[in-house]
Amino acid sequence: MTSVSSASAAFTGRDPGNRLYGPVPDVTEQSGYVEEHPARVGFFTDTSVCIGCKACEVACKEWNTLPMDDSHGVKDALGLSGMSYDNTGQLGANSWRHVAFIEQSRAVDLPMPTFGRPGDDRHDHGPSPAVSGDDVSLANAQQSSVLNAEALSEFDPQTGQSGADKQVRWLMSSDVCKHCTHAGCLDVCPTGALFRTEFGTVVVQGDICNGCGYCVAACPYGVIDQRKDDGRVFKCTMCYDRLTDGLQPACATACPTQSIQFGDLDELQARADARLETLKGQGVETARLYGRDESDGVGGVGAFFLLLDEPEVYGLPPDPIVTTRDLPAMWKAAGKAAVMMVGVAVTAILGSRRS
Ligand code: SF4
Ligand code: SF4
Ligand code: SF4
Repeated sequence: MTSVSSASAAFTGRDPGNRLYGPVPDVTEQSGYVEEHPARVGFFTDTSVCIGCKACEVACKEWNTLPMDDSHGVKDALGLSGMSYDNTGQLGANSWRHVAFIEQSRAVDLPMPTFGRPGDDRHDHGPSPAVSGDDVSLANAQQSSVLNAEALSEFDPQTGQSGADKQVRWLMSSDVCKHCTHAGCLDVCPTGALFRTEFGTVVVQGDICNGCGYCVAACPYGVIDQRKDDGRVFKCTMCYDRLTDGLQPACATACPTQSIQFGDLDELQARADARLETLKGQGVETARLYGRDESDGVGGVGAFFLLLDEPEVYGLPPDPIVTTRDLPAMWKAAGKAAVMMVGVAVTAILGSRRS
């Protein structure tokens, strides 16, 4: 592990150049690791190949010995949302990975047979074999599933269109802390519990956190969260303990489809650019990279995504901005106002003495 002084910017969050936003050529060096340091690492999460198996969520829970989430206010109880296969719901103090399941009703070109109204030429695959009495319920169930499928396919809330060929598609995406270039959580932490590592990642130390919660409000993605029973905050550490031992994060290791790719950020960015080009070439016009742009409101992130729809669809802010971006200007304005007030007060006192 590279040593760093506790007075350095890595712990204080202070940047001598006051660069609280915009691209940063070497965020690790800026944070105080002036001598040789490892390359900045990160995650490229390619949601186009995520199958929603949640192995990443489980691996994270296991490696970090995270407690079970409260379920509807009941501690240590298994809970089902009843709305979706997504029973984690969101990132939290005890869920450092969250696989979102977004269900959309829209035309999908799936390489599998479709079915529809009996007798419909488009779906009729010939006369059905004779159905015995015992098979009536099966036939009814099949009919019912046809009707359900049709009901689901009737209306597309995204496009406002109706159509019998519309089906449901799932967008799956494994969300995580973004390990921002300009991390609002790190900027506001008064105790040094949050710090930037030699790998360019942002880590919180639970044993130093005093539970003030400033970082919770400062995160533009709503990632970092307080544990209800003790008030301290927790989030993904990008498996700092594993990185220092030369291992890759547990979630990336468990992912069976390489939806979560870990590595040097430069290499991941190049890989993501190539993947986007491939998808565009295949006609996936809605594909886009999220968090890859170093000139965005947080200076780009260490954990970025390839999405198949607008960020809002995945519950991600479309244009995140580091919440401390305007702090220098605000302090300057407050300083000017204070000087003016002192000037007015002094003038008033002198004026009253003269009269
Ligand atoms: S996503 Fe939020 S918690 Fe994670 S580094 Fe950025 S500001 Fe901090
Ligand atoms: S990097 Fe480690 S801590 Fe972060 S989500 Fe993956 S397994 Fe959890
Ligand atoms: S990111 Fe990988 S491990 Fe996680 S749900 Fe998707 S496919 Fe499974």
